[in-house]
Amino acid sequence: MYSLPDLPYDYSALEPHIDAETMHIHHDKHHAAYIKNLLDALTGHEELLSLDVNDLISDLTKIPESIRTKVKNNGGGHANHSLFWEIMCPASESGSPSGKLLEDINKNFGDFPTFKEKFSTSGVGRFGSGWVWLVVDGDKIAIMDTPNQDSPVSEGKTPILALDVWEHAYYLKYKNVRADYIAAWWNVVNWNKVNALYEEVINT
Ligand code: MN
Repeated sequence: MYSLPDLPYDYSALEPHIDAETMHIHHDKHHAAYIKNLLDALTGHEELLSLDVNDLISDLTKIPESIRTKVKNNGGGHANHSLFWEIMCPASESGSPSGKLLEDINKNFGDFPTFKEKFSTSGVGRFGSGWVWLVVDGDKIAIMDTPNQDSPVSEGKTPILALDVWEHAYYLKYKNVRADYIAAWWNVVNWNKVNALYEEVINT
């Protein structure tokens, strides 16, 4: 069964970078709506309720065509936001990439500042609503972006870092200036979690 996970911190924990009101609306309204709409879509398809959401969206061709788009949008919305909350934390606990992740960031992008710049540029350049990701793709890591609530999981890739660039993620505080939101967001990335996710992916 799909349900709204609690935030792993207080709504105000990401202040001043992400404001509490945005967190309330984003988590309690937007994320909750994806789950409600997903459950509505799965009425009559109860066998799909027992799957982990990442398994649900991993191969959309297996989803009945009549509900496929709804599952893509709302299952994706649930999976994407569930990861997004996890990879953020108060700025005082943000940390930095380390171990194998730092090594592979340096190998793939030159250095960490260059990686951040490329990732940010993808976020600013993502036309309309969507997400930017650091994914594990086979034995490589890569930056990618997706429209709407499309998930890299549906393309066989495993996201370990997620940035929501929908206007609902930043508009109350940053208005139309997505670049300022992205610059602030780096302060609240939970690198300990991202490091751990990477270790988990490469060791399984
Ligand atoms: Mn969102």
